[in-house]
Amino acid sequence: MEKTTVLITGCSSGIGLGLAARLAADAARRFKVYATMRDLAKGERLLERLGGCCPDTLEVLQLDVTNSCSLAAAVQQVQGQRLDVLVCNAGVGLMGPLETCSDQAMKTVFDVNLFGAVRTIQAFLPTMKRHRAGRIIVSSSIGGLQGLPFNSVYCASKFALEGLCESLAIVLQPFNIHLTLVECGPVNTSFLANLQRPDPEGSELQGLDAETQGLYRRYLRHCQSLFHDVAQEVEEVLQVFLEAIGTPRPPLRCVTTQLFAPLSRLRLASPDGSAYVRAMHDFVFGRGEAGGDRP
Ligand code: NAP
Repeated sequence: MEKTTVLITGCSSGIGLGLAARLAADAARRFKVYATMRDLAKGERLLERLGGCCPDTLEVLQLDVTNSCSLAAAVQQVQGQRLDVLVCNAGVGLMGPLETCSDQAMKTVFDVNLFGAVRTIQAFLPTMKRHRAGRIIVSSSIGGLQGLPFNSVYCASKFALEGLCESLAIVLQPFNIHLTLVECGPVNTSFLANLQRPDPEGSELQGLDAETQGLYRRYLRHCQSLFHDVAQEVEEVLQVFLEAIGTPRPPLRCVTTQLFAPLSRLRLASPDGSAYVRAMHDFVFGRGEAGGDRP
């Protein structure tokens, strides 16, 4: 049986690594996985997970989604192969009061999360179109559906990705190419540790008003306890990706958790947005403290 070929970005850790390992280790050897990462030195973790090389089901390729030369080289390496599934998973976070987000940090978030996905899709779409078949799966976020405090730029990048994919999905329908956004809630990966954020006690917050500093500290505590209490394990989240790869008619959107469903429903039910803003404020900072937090 011909293997399903899958190319995944951001396989050095977390969801990308987990998905690549899971597919490459498939007992029936149904998949050929191109696991890509920007730094090949980090490939050891994936190979360790698999207990060594799996030449017929796994190939590790260098791919930095912000670098067009690196992307062109990866395209070259899979040239001549039909690509059945493209997983745009590479992503970075940025947290903190908007006033502290540097131009460079904001540009990096968009360069990876939005333009990185755009470049990757642009690179592989022509071959999928020629074959009139394929699936594109994009790692999005609950933060691509609703605003989250102190994550404005990250949410903006994922909202943009949602708009891009929804628009593209309409055009891809006649080509039999299905596009699916997987909207993750908190997942136990290195994402939280890797994201850029100002130290609440550091100099980056100097000059910021005391009230916002207090809210930010409370948000960080909320975020730590949310990840501690309800973050999903990668394996659980992978089920949603596997479903999107295997089901005959994948949906445009799927969430990995129902945790935020009441807030999402409220957002849709109250289109002027103010009920959502109040509810999210209460969820994070507690009820009846609309005036904010004192440091
Ligand atoms: P992660 O462990 O930090 O993985 C992120 C991956 O993206 C890493 O492999 C990282 O590679 C890669 N990456 C970053 N910049 C890149 C670039 N320029 N080119 C290629 N790869 C790059 O976090 P994760 O949780 O697995 O994140 C995967 C996706 O899920 C992201 O899109 C994220 O936004 C989304 N997500 C995660 C959560 C969560 O709570 N974990 C929640 C919602 C959405 P390096 O090792 O080289 O940095």
